[in-house]
Amino acid sequence: MKRYDAAVIGLGAMGSAAAAHLAARGARVIGLDRFAVLHEFGASAGRSRIIRKAYFEDLAYVPLLERAYELWYRLEKQTGRTLLKLCGVLVVGGGETDAARGVLLASERHGIDVRIMDAPELRAAYPQIRPLDDEIGIFEAEAGIVFPEEAIAAHLDAARANGATLEGNARVTGWQPRGSTLAIDIDGTPEYEVNRVVVCAGPWTPAAFARLRLPITVQRNVQYWFTPESSAFTPDRFPAFFLDRLGLPAPLYGFPDLGDGVKTALHGYGLETIADDLNRDVEPWEVGHMREVVDEWMPAAAGELRSVKACMYALTPDHHFALGVDPHDDRVVFGAGFSGHGFKFAPVIGELLAQLALDGETVLDIDFLSPARFVEGLP
Ligand SMILES: Cc1cc2nc3c(=O)[nH]c(=O)nc-3n(C[C@H](O)[C@H](O)[C@H](O)COP(=O)(O)OP(=O)(O)OC[C@H]3O[C@@H](n4cnc5c(N)ncnc54)[C@H](O)[C@@H]3O)c2cc1C
Repeated sequence: MKRYDAAVIGLGAMGSAAAAHLAARGARVIGLDRFAVLHEFGASAGRSRIIRKAYFEDLAYVPLLERAYELWYRLEKQTGRTLLKLCGVLVVGGGETDAARGVLLASERHGIDVRIMDAPELRAAYPQIRPLDDEIGIFEAEAGIVFPEEAIAAHLDAARANGATLEGNARVTGWQPRGSTLAIDIDGTPEYEVNRVVVCAGPWTPAAFARLRLPITVQRNVQYWFTPESSAFTPDRFPAFFLDRLGLPAPLYGFPDLGDGVKTALHGYGLETIADDLNRDVEPWEVGHMREVVDEWMPAAAGELRSVKACMYALTPDHHFALGVDPHDDRVVFGAGFSGHGFKFAPVIGELLAQLALDGETVLDIDFLSPARFVEGLP
């Protein structure tokens, strides 16, 4: 059996980042993915993800985001790849919706620069959209888009540059104690002996690694790209957006036209599934529904349908991440349940996972993400 300091299981957003950070710290790393290294079947596919710092989900994420921004900029420099397009993010909601209130709070508490607009100001700034009279818009300039496939490729490059071995078509089926080390099984056969295991299996986590006892459910989410009927949706004229409007089935978010159409999706909207059973076909009624929702918000955006992609959210019960050490074996650490908002954090999650695996503790406070919150009786 080949020996390594650490095995990273899953080389998507979080696993590629963990492999890069472990290798940068001098660990001998084996990274394993059940599909090809860099594939399009996981939670990270779809060409764009929103990045923003005035975080309405919980103020405790902001220090992690500050570090994530630093690490994204550093990774761009290191690898020479363009990972971010900071065209700004516009959050719109009635003043009382969670998103609008949360963005205002985070920007005040953490001194994040935002521009607040009432409905007439919004209409003047963005004639492309139809805000309701009681809605406000909050524009954050140092926010925008992260390119997921490019970002994963950058982390993989960085991992390889520091000596990591990365294997595709290597499905991990489990690990067993072997003295003080762990033997990693590939399709049932022990192949690697390691000191630490870092599990980053995304939406496959609950089915493949039930032993971690994480209460994660998987949800099918569809992304849509439309050719706009006007030229007013390019990133120099229109930002990424998040509309939290009462009466919508879920918040609507999307991206300006980066040359492949205006992309839209509903946040946290879709049927529960199992990763291996994901229905990747998108029905005409689903497209019709999305078109109706988009037409009401930005009438000229949803012209001809250009492409669609079904993807998966890995949801925890409270929609916060599960990041920590396996309470049953401290040689195993994991990052899971990123609940549809994890991508922007990928480099800091990778750094934190490396710290958990190598030091047993982290520099930043991640107590609020501890999996112990799901297990009665654990501290
Ligand atoms: C439609 C959609 C829109 C989103 N929008 C945003 C957004 O705007 N902003 C944002 O910040 N986040 C967003 N997210 C969330 C973000 O994309 C995810 O949180 C993130 O991609 C999760 O990464 P991951 O590494 O956990 O999973 P993945 O990237 O899916 O990686 C898991 C990897 O594990 C591998 N694997 C699984 N099982 C095994 C096994 N047994 N052996 C070996 N390998 C295995 C898989 O093949 C895969 O490569 C969105 C998600 C979706 C689906």
